[in-house]
Amino acid sequence: MDTIKLVVMGTGGVGKSALTIQYVQQQFVTQYDPTIEDSYRRQANVDGKNVMLEILDTAGTEQFKAMRDLYMRNGEGFILVYSVIALSTFNDLSELREQIMRVKEGDVPMILVGNKADLDSQRMVAKAQGDELAKSFGCGFLEASAKTRLNVDEIFTEVIRQVFAGRGINKNDNKKRGAGKKKNCVIF
Ligand code: GDP
Ligand code: MG
Repeated sequence: MDTIKLVVMGTGGVGKSALTIQYVQQQFVTQYDPTIEDSYRRQANVDGKNVMLEILDTAGTEQFKAMRDLYMRNGEGFILVYSVIALSTFNDLSELREQIMRVKEGDVPMILVGNKADLDSQRMVAKAQGDELAKSFGCGFLEASAKTRLNVDEIFTEVIRQVFAGRGINKNDNKKRGAGKKKNCVIF
């Protein structure tokens, strides 16, 4: 079975762990150590294809930029999360995306997620703002809730589809580009 490496990113507190754990273990966690960075495995079936997912729930605790670069480079699909009740977390994502684009080459499978959509009365980011940002990123967009499970499966399905599509289209491309590039080395 093919394995797909996904990376969940975004500012602390937006619900990266809650979304990941809701997807993998079908439960909503209200207290989860914000410094824990862990990876989860889950099988998925998308469009009739079985895949094993390796999902990295990041915590922004890496001490060296090189470590972040490394998991960005290894990641094949990216889930960029903000919280609809915290505008700063929305504003943080442009820089994060730029970092990803610096490390990766070509089309990067990616989805923008506005989490905590259940907290509508506290909303600080309109759905239209999410739509617009996703358009500027050239990626998909979903509002979601790790609490109510709104769109949790859909986030992963969408990014897996993009990885499938990219593998089909860019395979030879990547090989060509790979030659002579990516000479950065990581020293620990
Ligand atoms: P992380 O730092 O991005 O991993 O954020 P966490 O997953 O630890 O979530 C931070 C806090 O927000 C926790 O108390 C969660 O229970 C809460 N939370 C996460 N997602 C949602 C959601 O969709 N709705 C609501 N109401 N709370 C959420
Ligand atoms: Mg977390």
